[in-house]
Amino acid sequence: MHYIAPTNLLKDKTLFITGASDGIGQQAALSYAQYGASLYLLGRREEKLQQLSQQLQHHYPQQRFVILPCDLLTLTPSQAQQLAQHIQQQVTHLDGLLHNASLLGQRQPMAEQPFSQWREVMQVNVDAAFILTQALLPLLLKAPRSALLFTSSSVGQQGRASWGAYAVSKFATEGMMQVLAQEYQATPLRVNAINPGGTRTAMRRSAFPDEDANQLLTPAQIMPLYLYLMGDDSSNENGRCFNAQPNRRPGSA
Ligand code: NDP
Repeated sequence: MHYIAPTNLLKDKTLFITGASDGIGQQAALSYAQYGASLYLLGRREEKLQQLSQQLQHHYPQQRFVILPCDLLTLTPSQAQQLAQHIQQQVTHLDGLLHNASLLGQRQPMAEQPFSQWREVMQVNVDAAFILTQALLPLLLKAPRSALLFTSSSVGQQGRASWGAYAVSKFATEGMMQVLAQEYQATPLRVNAINPGGTRTAMRRSAFPDEDANQLLTPAQIMPLYLYLMGDDSSNENGRCFNAQPNRRPGSA
């Protein structure tokens, strides 16, 4: 997408990003902060989140960066409610939520996929997004305009052999986005999804270990779409999944 964001696109906005400790989520944190946002950064590895928030605080001392070390695999509705209450003590509303964290799981035929692994992928990719969305919706609805963004995948639009739970979880993600988009269409909350397409990250590397990563776009290169959908220029978009790399070979992770 050839979107050029105004430098103040996210000024005074407070956003929540999951999977902010690595890959696309980490880059989204850097880009959103660059355009003025304060951030809640959720990820599994506390040390990486700590490093990221120190880096951001150094560059953008006027903004606020809060780390939330959390394993989405074990997140319960009551923990998510506590998290929301904690945030509510600090800010009046949230302007955006980017559901970015995901688990890939093993790539193998469905007949061989252990149920325990199926459950883990569903818990992180679907259940945790549902639980967090429910907890944070009241804060999103208090904003004058807000964005709820999910992360899909090409295999969430067209099933593919050996992509098992991950592919099914991405179909569910797109379904969740569509249901919520309709439920909130009369409100200032817009709900959309992004399919990043093949992007140079650890997840992509583990899915395609033999691929030449130099042929892939970097997370920084797909940020125009992430900025567009998080900022008010996309106020009229609702219920759509956007492809960050529409002209490239379909990404597979
Ligand atoms: P990475 O593996 O690079 O990063 C994943 C992020 O999610 C990390 O911050 C990781 O945290 C976090 N995460 C994973 N599991 C958990 C968990 N249980 N609890 C909390 N956080 C967790 O992935 P990408 O950046 O490549 O992917 C980002 C999104 O884009 C995903 O939704 C993915 O499905 C999607 N996508 C990616 C594509 C690609 O080519 N890269 C293509 C299509 C879709 P930590 O580092 O702390 O473990």
